[in-house]
Amino acid sequence: MKIRHLDPYKRNDPEGTITTHHRSSKPARLNDPQSGNAKSKLKAYAAQSATSALAPFQLQRRELGPHDVQIEILYCGVCHSDLHQVRNEWHNTIYPCVPGHEIVGRVVKTGGEVEKFGAGDIAAVGCMVNSCRICPSCRSGDEQYCEQVPILTYNSPDKHLGGVTYGGYSEAIVVDDAFVLRVSEKLDLAAAAPLLCAGITTYSPLRHWNVGKDVKVGIVGLGGLGHMAVKFANAFGAHVVLFTTSSNKAPDALRLGAHEVVVSKNESEMKRHRNSFDFILDAVSAEHDINAYLSLLKVDGTLTLVGAPERPLPVAAFNLILPRRHLAGSAIGGIRETQEMLDFCAAHDITADVEVIPIQQVNEAYEKMLKGQVKYRFVIEMASLN
Ligand code: NAP
Ligand code: ZN
Ligand code: ZN
Repeated sequence: MKIRHLDPYKRNDPEGTITTHHRSSKPARLNDPQSGNAKSKLKAYAAQSATSALAPFQLQRRELGPHDVQIEILYCGVCHSDLHQVRNEWHNTIYPCVPGHEIVGRVVKTGGEVEKFGAGDIAAVGCMVNSCRICPSCRSGDEQYCEQVPILTYNSPDKHLGGVTYGGYSEAIVVDDAFVLRVSEKLDLAAAAPLLCAGITTYSPLRHWNVGKDVKVGIVGLGGLGHMAVKFANAFGAHVVLFTTSSNKAPDALRLGAHEVVVSKNESEMKRHRNSFDFILDAVSAEHDINAYLSLLKVDGTLTLVGAPERPLPVAAFNLILPRRHLAGSAIGGIRETQEMLDFCAAHDITADVEVIPIQQVNEAYEKMLKGQVKYRFVIEMASLN
């Protein structure tokens, strides 16, 4: 299948006259508060405290620097991390908090030094908007492990405007071009948005631990991350077993690419897989018994946590000691690998299964996500802000 890529070297188009396939019907007007003038107030949704609902909020974006890209946000995915952060479950939230780090939009304006993007291009932003760029992790393309700590898309110190960064539940964002990604025009843009977090967070560990042909891989939890992990592990040629607490998700898991489904509450089903897995990716958002999964690994098998529950998960030492098992973690992925993942998705026609919602339904979406009722990612259509 032929893939059409946006021309990364398209020059800036100050008049906003370049047209591309996914450009919205509304042309960019440079004096439009939502597109041209980043300093004016922009519409957003924010939480004011750990116990308050997300509600309308106004924010400012910085004026464009020479390397900045101003993006009108079209779609933003709803990640369980947004919920953890909004409700201060990681105990570090600064309010008001504007979440959202699965962003796909249209470039409105670019700074004078930006060469990769021009007005009208489709562009994407994930969980990071900057990093130190000089530490060993940054130099090797693992900006997510920056020794100075990467600047996250929301809830990180904002060195331009003070306070903290504000995320994608908003009509526009300004980001340094080194942290802006290209999305193929052939992908459905709403369904591509979750690739920016759920996609890369599962793609990266599956690649790092060489999940592919002749590998038996387990995916724990069929949510936003889990369903992407099933798709990737299948595309990489592995034998995929999906573990779920929700027996009603079994038909979907098989449709998404799992070869077997195990309902984790069923002890005999679990026992059948003891000592048999090369790799298990755990994408569960809440407390659960990881010892039950460690015992399914074979010698030198690895269980990698990407799920980030609020409280610690106890580990029985002998579940690691015998037979020499590994317990690991992984955070999102670097910018280069995120682009690689987006290009892989374009080549293999992979996107998330999404339910597109107006932003006014975001609080309800959080409750459904908590109950495991999302199939399999909510994505906010940002035009609903207007
Ligand atoms: P999600 O869509 O809510 O999916 C979580 C899934 O976990 C649920 O669908 C459910 O699957 C399972 N689950 C929920 N509660 C459970 C419980 N009490 N016991 C067992 N299983 C349970 O969430 P998500 O957006 O995929 O995010 C998953 C986790 O990854 C979150 O903690 C999030 O913060 C974290 N995360 C980490 C990174 C990273 O860089 N490491 C990046 C993004 C997100 P079943 O119904 O199939 O059991
Ligand atoms: Zn996320
Ligand atoms: Zn760094």
